[in-house]
Amino acid sequence: MFGIIFFFGLGLIIGSFLNVCIFRLPADESIVFPPSHCLKCGTQIKWYDNIPVVSWLLLRGKCRVCKEPISIQYPAVELITGVLTMLFYAHWSHYWPWLLIALPALYTMIVMSVIDFKTMMISDLFSIILVALGLIGSPWNPCLQPYAYSWAGCIGQSGIGIITGAGSIWAIAVLGKLIYKKDAVGEGDIILMGAIGALCGWRGVITSVMMAALLGTIYGFTLIFMKKAGRGSAMAFGPFLAMGAAINMYQLVPPSAFFFLSPF
Ligand SMILES: [Zn+2]
Repeated sequence: MFGIIFFFGLGLIIGSFLNVCIFRLPADESIVFPPSHCLKCGTQIKWYDNIPVVSWLLLRGKCRVCKEPISIQYPAVELITGVLTMLFYAHWSHYWPWLLIALPALYTMIVMSVIDFKTMMISDLFSIILVALGLIGSPWNPCLQPYAYSWAGCIGQSGIGIITGAGSIWAIAVLGKLIYKKDAVGEGDIILMGAIGALCGWRGVITSVMMAALLGTIYGFTLIFMKKAGRGSAMAFGPFLAMGAAINMYQLVPPSAFFFLSPF
């Protein structure tokens, strides 16, 4: 029980740092200096106003000095990071090598997803970090281990994942261009899919895309239903792919879960 609370708290603090990355990396600013400040009035934020989630609630989402609203992104990212860190710890505490790979990968995906959500851009930097984590961590990766008999086999499974992930979405991109005469898939999505393959293997690639399509469709219809978007509105797909990958990293969902009679 102590471990679960500790990892929830640790996740909240890490989430607070991820927020800084989300705001400063796209602007090419340092993530270390200057210390946290209000984006409107520039006042440096005191430590007691910088406690994850709690401070935002106590300040009712407004800067203490200038009363400018503070984005709900802050507590949301902190809470998501805290909850995911806690869940992964609870599920994998008996196998810490995977935690050491999965958690940094998860944090990279959170930063990437929120930036994609806000700007519709996926920086290849994040995908490359994820590919590296996937390849280096492959011998301890429970998505790959059941299908390989050695370290080399695990690295091979990860490599096959990269090829299936990047290759399949590249094929979709080429087809889309032929049919719709415009780019249907972003270049960033191709490298991101390669990264998901490195972390989840080719089985995980298939189910990550299926879960992403499902979650993305639900989200899209919710927006249309709430009249926040039209049918033709563009939508970032990266965050949904990351959600699918995160589910697979928590516990691999094999394609057979979707195709009941499949031989996979
Ligand atoms: Zn302010």
